[in-house]
Amino acid sequence: MGTNNLLEATDVKIYYPVASSFGKKEYVKAVDGVSFEVRRGEVLGIVGESGCGKSTLGRGVCKLENITSGKIVLDGVDISNFNAAKMRPMRKKVQMVFQDPYASLNPRMSVFDIIAEPMRIHGLAKNNEELKEKVLATLRKVGLDDYHANRYPHEFSGGQRQRIGIARALAVEPDLIIADEPVSALDVSIQAQVLNLMNVLKKDLNLTYIFVAHDLSVVEYISDRVGVMYLGNFVEVADKKSLYENPMHPYTQALLSAVPVPDPTAKKKRVILEGNIPSAHNPPSGCKFHTRCPKCMEICKTVAPEKYQASEDHYVYCHLYDDKLK
Ligand code: SF4
Repeated sequence: MGTNNLLEATDVKIYYPVASSFGKKEYVKAVDGVSFEVRRGEVLGIVGESGCGKSTLGRGVCKLENITSGKIVLDGVDISNFNAAKMRPMRKKVQMVFQDPYASLNPRMSVFDIIAEPMRIHGLAKNNEELKEKVLATLRKVGLDDYHANRYPHEFSGGQRQRIGIARALAVEPDLIIADEPVSALDVSIQAQVLNLMNVLKKDLNLTYIFVAHDLSVVEYISDRVGVMYLGNFVEVADKKSLYENPMHPYTQALLSAVPVPDPTAKKKRVILEGNIPSAHNPPSGCKFHTRCPKCMEICKTVAPEKYQASEDHYVYCHLYDDKLK
């Protein structure tokens, strides 16, 4: 494992069995053999349409979801086969922030207890006094006040609830935070505030993020590198500048063509994708994107493309970049 990598995932598959026909086992292949690394101190954005497997992958790499096969190494420890009990000490290293802060906060617990609970579980305070100090310090880090500690989740706005969700994740002083659509349930003006907060916390606390979202503008704002997922696989992974300025995969090009630009005079050719994302239960053969790809070739229908390295930090899975086919 590269010393700079906080997390390495190799050929991770997350399959769900479905009712089979004629006794044959069938699966929904939510994540279908994904490999990537997360470097210390970076934000890796993961984008794709709903159903592409990005949230499942996020939950899988922190073992909130069992993986079917593959290897996950977190801070040098192979956690691939860890059950919930073995994972408990590792939860100090990796925490999640969820999309819907209201659903993820226990409505019967005060904000104090929501943040104190993980601290108690991990024995992070010697006594009640230290616990109180730590809870209040964590609240302040996310821009809330001491008096908020005695209130309950329903007394807060959506943005404040997400701040509480972030505070709960920070309670155990993790290295890695996996944020699953953390701002998509919030109003746009509130989104910016929460993203700014996450940026500041990352710098102040030396955090590393995996940031899962469907909104490319949000991902562009916060990420250092971005992976684009389609039907359970990455199709392109690159540093932010390369991906947004020089998208190589037709799917990335289509997604980016739909992002509004601030300059009304700027001309941008919109690539319209036909049809919906196919089912992960019965994905297309060859390149999984071939049923919607405007540049589809014959080979794409039967042969899955390999990984092509375009530059040091930019790789793409597409036959268009296969020198042998040129
Ligand atoms: Fe399109 Fe073929 Fe590239 Fe797939 S491999 S994205 S179908 S050109």
